[in-house]
Amino acid sequence: MTKKKKFNKFSFETRAIREGSFRSSAMEHSEAVYPTSSFLFNSASQAASRFKGDEDGVIYSRFSNPSIEMFEKRLASLENAEDCIATATGMSAILLTCLSFLKSGDEIVSTPSLFGATLQLFNNYLSKFGIKTHYVSLTKTKEWEEKITAKTKLIYLETPSNPLNEIADLFKISEISKKNKIISVVDNCLCTPALQNPLDFSIDLSLHSATKFIDGQGRVLGGAVTGKKKLISQIKSTMRTCGPAMSPFNAWVLFKSLETLKIRMDAQSESAEKIATFLQNHNKIQKVFFPGLKSHPQYKLAKKQQKKPGAVISFEIKNPESLSAKKNAWNIINQVNIFSITGNFGDCRSTITHPASTTHCRITNLERKKAGINNGLIRISIGLENVNDLINDLDQALEN
Ligand SMILES: *Cc1c(COP(=O)(O)O)cnc(C)c1O
Repeated sequence: MTKKKKFNKFSFETRAIREGSFRSSAMEHSEAVYPTSSFLFNSASQAASRFKGDEDGVIYSRFSNPSIEMFEKRLASLENAEDCIATATGMSAILLTCLSFLKSGDEIVSTPSLFGATLQLFNNYLSKFGIKTHYVSLTKTKEWEEKITAKTKLIYLETPSNPLNEIADLFKISEISKKNKIISVVDNCLCTPALQNPLDFSIDLSLHSATKFIDGQGRVLGGAVTGKKKLISQIKSTMRTCGPAMSPFNAWVLFKSLETLKIRMDAQSESAEKIATFLQNHNKIQKVFFPGLKSHPQYKLAKKQQKKPGAVISFEIKNPESLSAKKNAWNIINQVNIFSITGNFGDCRSTITHPASTTHCRITNLERKKAGINNGLIRISIGLENVNDLINDLDQALEN
């Protein structure tokens, strides 16, 4: 085994390539994948010391595996975090966080501008165990403070939100959480650490669906939570018992993905800026939701918190609440040639979807309305194709 080098004084790009590497005695240059459920011990006493925690080392892949640890170390470094835990999916990262810090009678303060399955987790599952969620407007920091009671144990949000790209003020939210001794959690899925580091704004935990931009090629599912050692170790205990672990193969894929994360995010975000400007000037479009446009209500805040606006754009066609809005939006989606019709985003292939009838179809009409998702809304995620090809593709779809 090689001596562990530290790269924390280097810049993001260097850490993304060099941090977290672990080599076997074969000295492979490209890091190996360790597809094994368990690990051997030299003796009964070594087994006992490992299980007791007296000796560092791997035991069983539900809670220790070299491929998974490589991914965790690298992502922790990119998030400027002390520690990280990888999980099977983004949803299991959220679930483990909730299981670790909440008990019956506790409350969450959150916002309706959440990923659809997260809303369902809070409303349909945590509620069964006596955990209540209060919802406030993502962007109105005062409302967050007003909903906090002695029972509040978690503040939970996404910024930018999906699909409407609203921006929360991370610094103000973290101040509220510190003042009230509540754990603040940000789902950093849309930006990834290449564009935003919530922990730099004193947020306690930054979590991810690695399935999206971190993978970037739509191959595997994965999730992660990053933050202070003290908090992550509690989530690690929950993982050891509850079990939604990342597979070593997925960890290896995602570890490699981090090497290209920054150049992908920069390129995809720059293309998205051009496409958002094109959409904003198009006569068939009523409104574009993209934090890189000066017309975005939190344009300045986004510039302060994010290195770039990101690669997800939502837009409303004219008359988005009319009876024919869904048919018109579906027509546009059916007319594009390059964009993939899929609920996923964060791929190097550009994608297009109708949130009201796909990603947000399982929530009630009222919840959709509260989240601002109408039938005229289309969400696109910009990939690595040529930006002019993408603009021309959207142009012909809108003209037809
Ligand atoms: C996809 C997504 C999730 C859930 O991630 P999975 O890996 O699909 O479980 C959570 N939050 C956001 C913002 C997402 O887009």
